[in-house]
Amino acid sequence: MRVKLVAGNWKMHGSLAANLGLLDAVRAGAAGCKADVALCVPYPYLAQARAVLGGSNVAWGAQDVSEHAQGAWTGEVSGAMLADFACRYAIVGHSERRSFFGDTDAVVAAKFSAALKAGLTPILCVGETLSEREAGITGDVVTRQLDAVLAKCGAAVFSRAVVAYEPVWAIGTGRTASPAQAQEVHALIRARFALEDAGIAAGLRILYGGSVKAGNAAELFGQPDIDGGLIGGASLIAADFLGICAAA
Ligand code: PEP
Repeated sequence: MRVKLVAGNWKMHGSLAANLGLLDAVRAGAAGCKADVALCVPYPYLAQARAVLGGSNVAWGAQDVSEHAQGAWTGEVSGAMLADFACRYAIVGHSERRSFFGDTDAVVAAKFSAALKAGLTPILCVGETLSEREAGITGDVVTRQLDAVLAKCGAAVFSRAVVAYEPVWAIGTGRTASPAQAQEVHALIRARFALEDAGIAAGLRILYGGSVKAGNAAELFGQPDIDGGLIGGASLIAADFLGICAAA
């Protein structure tokens, strides 16, 4: 039985003052939630997340991690630094990193590996663009993105990792994949892992991300291979995020 995970991705939003109410409300509202809950906040707010969420059942994490362990990499933040702030999760390969910051499949695999080495749980994002979906190559794209990480790290480490399927055309657009569309790709992802290791495939948490809201979460999370969600916009409003957590 896979416990569902609902992870918020605040992206580049927030301020110390505004975060406080949101963190407090999520902390209180998630108490007793049957799903695992996490918030991935901007780096400067990790200390605040730790201070407010510490001791609760809401974990916190980062939205990226450097592929490098330390050194002359101006602007980068290492996995060990995230571990210093007791992060549990680090998102890697988000489509905004891939498309706006040049994170290639190889870079994403290196970041995934760096997160694991620091004891973090990477949330590996994969997903196709609209043109790739329309060209009928969704499965090829997702498989290529997974294979880059499998080739570098192997399948066994996915006992300590999470995969998030995020169709790029559904992120922040209000256009959600239908439960059937999402389930089809989730099943394909699980089948890819089953080729490597049936046990890993069975236990792997595969989140769906892309315009998830309290109103569509239950149907998405009811699909057999959807194990929770990676939530962008709706994670910025406590009631919306908690509604999604309740659906999980
Ligand atoms: C995301 O940023 O990963 C995401 C899924 O965003 P949204 O929920 O806003 O579509």
